[in-house]
Amino acid sequence: MSGPAVLKLSAWGARRLHELNYESTALVSWVPAHTEETLRQWLHTFRDQNGRKTVESNPLFGLPQRLWRTLTDQAGISAEMRWSELPAKLQNRLIESLLRTPLPVRGKTTYKEEFVTCGGIVLGEVNMHTMESRRVPGLYFAGEVLDIDGITGGFNFQAAWTTGYLAGRAMAASNS
Ligand SMILES: Cc1cc2nc3c(=O)[nH]c(=O)nc-3n(C[C@H](O)[C@H](O)[C@H](O)COP(=O)(O)OP(=O)(O)OC[C@H]3O[C@@H](n4cnc5c(N)ncnc54)[C@H](O)[C@@H]3O)c2cc1C
Repeated sequence: MSGPAVLKLSAWGARRLHELNYESTALVSWVPAHTEETLRQWLHTFRDQNGRKTVESNPLFGLPQRLWRTLTDQAGISAEMRWSELPAKLQNRLIESLLRTPLPVRGKTTYKEEFVTCGGIVLGEVNMHTMESRRVPGLYFAGEVLDIDGITGGFNFQAAWTTGYLAGRAMAASNS
């Protein structure tokens, strides 16, 4: 698994993942707009109207064919099975996979380092206009060393550049 969803999870869950020593199980919902109840209801209506369609070859919820096939395989649904023939047990397994596919988390990535480091200098202890420490006058902070953990998409670069600019200006002004 990679991409924006994983990067965001690693940011939002940073402290929790650290507590768990990066060993846990992520439960992925492929249908985030649904609860179990609404999904059951949705499938009930769908089955009524599409009983002749085979389950495996007609992906639902906009899921890619390969992912859908993996989910139906995991549920034990054979390639020829139609919606009208789908036993409740297999439908329950499919619902479980759609809502809670378990993915083991085992440690950090290859490089063992974060894209963006969670934690750092507490923002309340810094004057945000000058980036000067409120505790140690004359000490300035910028970038990653601050407790800023923006989501992926350039916000961390922006934070580093902006705080660097502010700190640089304030330091120059304090010397003049
Ligand atoms: C793989 C990866 C991908 C990333 N992708 C994105 C992205 O797409 N978008 C985004 O917004 N952010 C991204 N980031 C985060 C972003 O790179 C950082 O938030 C940003 O670079 C922080 O800038 P900085 O100047 O504070 O620190 P750094 O860029 O880490 O710079 C610190 C510098 O200090 C030097 N240094 C360290 N110790 C000493 C020392 N004792 N003496 C002298 N020099 C020292 C280091 O060599 C380094 O050059 C990514 C980070 C990584 C690792």
